[in-house]
Amino acid sequence: MTRRQSRLDSLSKEERQDLIRKLYDAQNKRCYVCNKDINLSVHKVDIDHIKALDKDGSDDESNWGLTHDTCNRSKGTRDLQLQRILYEFRSHVEKYTKNGGTLTLNEALQELTPERKKVGYKFEDNQIKISWTNEGVPETETYSLLEEPGKPPAKSFMARIPFICLFHDHEINPRSIIDLEPMIEEFYKGYVQLQPSLATLTTEGSDGKGKILVFDGQHKAAAQLYARRKRLFVRVFVDYNKNKLKETNFRAHTKLAQVHFPQLINDRVGSDLFTEEFDKFRLSSNPNKDSEKIFFQKYLDRSLKSEYIGYFKNNLRYEVLTGKAGAEDNKLLSFTETVTSRAKKFPLSYDTLQKSFLQQMLFLRSSREPMEVTEKFRTLERENLIRIMNLFVDEILAKNRFDLNLGIFRLEERLANNPESIPDKHLRAYRICRQSAMTIWALEFKRAIAVLLNTKQKYTDSAWPQDRPLWVEISPQDWDQIRKMLCAIRDHKVWGERTNPDIVNSLKSTRQKDWKEILLKGRLPGRQEECLPPLDQNFIFNSVQFGV
Ligand SMILES: [Zn+2]
Repeated sequence: MTRRQSRLDSLSKEERQDLIRKLYDAQNKRCYVCNKDINLSVHKVDIDHIKALDKDGSDDESNWGLTHDTCNRSKGTRDLQLQRILYEFRSHVEKYTKNGGTLTLNEALQELTPERKKVGYKFEDNQIKISWTNEGVPETETYSLLEEPGKPPAKSFMARIPFICLFHDHEINPRSIIDLEPMIEEFYKGYVQLQPSLATLTTEGSDGKGKILVFDGQHKAAAQLYARRKRLFVRVFVDYNKNKLKETNFRAHTKLAQVHFPQLINDRVGSDLFTEEFDKFRLSSNPNKDSEKIFFQKYLDRSLKSEYIGYFKNNLRYEVLTGKAGAEDNKLLSFTETVTSRAKKFPLSYDTLQKSFLQQMLFLRSSREPMEVTEKFRTLERENLIRIMNLFVDEILAKNRFDLNLGIFRLEERLANNPESIPDKHLRAYRICRQSAMTIWALEFKRAIAVLLNTKQKYTDSAWPQDRPLWVEISPQDWDQIRKMLCAIRDHKVWGERTNPDIVNSLKSTRQKDWKEILLKGRLPGRQEECLPPLDQNFIFNSVQFGV
């Protein structure tokens, strides 16, 4: 992402004036980005590369463009061709939304490839031949037909279909695409299309011609269209029952967990972006001198810094949630709500995980230590946190402690109506995982772990117990003690309360302030007297010292 030196940077004042004049004439006095008139006596102007040097654009007049100063918004990072595309996209958004309409793949296709046609098709054995004409030249391609059993069975083929043969299926997917800009940029930069879009080919007529209608993945379709790719990777269903597809598609976006897990997907995407750039940095860096800090401060283009700080955090979280500690997978995700943001069946939401374990136990800032030191401790940190999460699962959730069939929906209410219906283990697990409670006790837990390991002089650096509690080698004996701490948290009196109505009522609170009073002071909100033993770092730490 570093900008290469360009001849443009070393032009003298006169040479630059000459060049502006030349380009001005060559571009018919228009701005390369917005295509509106330039008035040299009024407008400030700018010269930049049409195709970036990184994209093998040449460093000469043939690849230089003249723009209004204001139209070249991100000098160096987006080339002019991309800015022209994004300008065009924004103008389409404006055009189609200003009277309350929407911009969909349909409008994008109309604007960018107005001349679209049906395709010819022909079945031969287990293949389908698709034909079209491209600027008067006939073209034919043959694809294997895939047959899938099902109710009803489905026939489809995978292909890269030219945009000049594609239509948008209004009926199935009416969503607007106005948030497309980042994706256009991704495809422009050359990222591949990972998943196919989905389409149907209708073969009703007798003329051997059909329409290919895209009904899912219209964002990636439109983004590639704007990025000037010629074809779309698509799975085309042949004569398939539309209602069935509609239903399947809806289920994929709502009921099937792994598809709809927005925050985790967000972490994955950020993580990929970070890794890609960071790997390049690592290859070019000196492992006993350069650091994560250097990556952000020296290596990255300044304009990208804040974005990449976010991706860096995505990466640290994602590696914990999907990573391994030795042979152990992270087991906590199987108790985490993956369908909606408000959990009903599972004890934890992604948000709760993020605000508790991930936020509090990971060192989410960049380290100044040399890469070889940092990498070793980043691995330890990740593995330690996975083990802590798995201990939490073992001691508090798994083995029928938390009963997924009972779930969490209106649990306190069900408890009040029928105390017998909720077993103690389930009740404790439920309350321990409440977000407002968990953010409080997880922090105390982290502090207790840091004190434990610090008293054993395990840390390499005296500052680490504060903000990098898991940058440490944890021995089997230490792990036993950490397990004891979790048991002490689990067995604390507060979670099992079901008889004292004042306490039970307070435990329904969703406010962190209330939970601070309850857990750290042992007091009910608004009361002076202590009615429970505090569940703070001392309580947790002492459970190890004296046994519980
Ligand atoms: Zn302009």
